[in-house]
Amino acid sequence: MYHCCKTKPDDIYYLKETNLYTYRMLSIGFCPICSKPIAEIYQFRFDGVPERITASGIEANNMMQKYSGDILFSAREVNYKKFKSKPFGWRYGINKSVKNGKKTAIKQYACDFYGNKELVKIL
Ligand SMILES: [Zn+2]
Repeated sequence: MYHCCKTKPDDIYYLKETNLYTYRMLSIGFCPICSKPIAEIYQFRFDGVPERITASGIEANNMMQKYSGDILFSAREVNYKKFKSKPFGWRYGINKSVKNGKKTAIKQYACDFYGNKELVKIL
């Protein structure tokens, strides 16, 4: 993957095939220079054309949210057993608004792709 310089992904997620795409992989990592999160999807379109989309920062976060439901397993999943309770590895953020009487609070969660969620703060 590439941002300010070439870097190795921190983890690689293998995604479900869809009607349009096969051999789907989602790589994630951090740029060693500016330390922004980077996400990159690599997949083959039904007509054999490879597609590579790279996103960084908040767009990387959005990309992870978009594809999180398609993840089958990750390259690091075997190691994960040690870290069951808290979100592990690359996290993405979710904001949930919760109604409490007349007030609406925004709860910020850090999520991973194994279904773990941790409340970070309430706004
Ligand atoms: Zn960078």
